[in-house]
Amino acid sequence: MAEELKPTGIYYCETADVYCSVKRKLKEAEDQKAELKEALEDMVEQFGYWSDGAGGFITGGLSALELAFRVLGWEEPHISKGHWCDEPGCKKRISCGTPTPDGYRSTCGDHAPRKEGNGDV
Ligand SMILES: [Zn+2]
Repeated sequence: MAEELKPTGIYYCETADVYCSVKRKLKEAEDQKAELKEALEDMVEQFGYWSDGAGGFITGGLSALELAFRVLGWEEPHISKGHWCDEPGCKKRISCGTPTPDGYRSTCGDHAPRKEGNGDV
């Protein structure tokens, strides 16, 4: 009896097509989920409240932000050291970026480097 010719893969058949289709759709859904999560994080970082004491984002009791925190799996407050002022010990959110002779500083308004001679302290 002649041996049946088989393509290279075990899954070469209709089942393989379905398997590949499902796998591709799952990958697309995972990619979309990651993109949506990133967009939600960006929105919370832009519109969420900041707690200087905690050094992180809070919901302020707003239901939309509470839902966003839940979807993101964030505790409240959501501590975010990446948003902290460069000044040691300061947990205020970065609001200023200033080039200085010692390098670029990302600080809160209170610790923003001042230009000499402009009357600021
Ligand atoms: Zn500061």
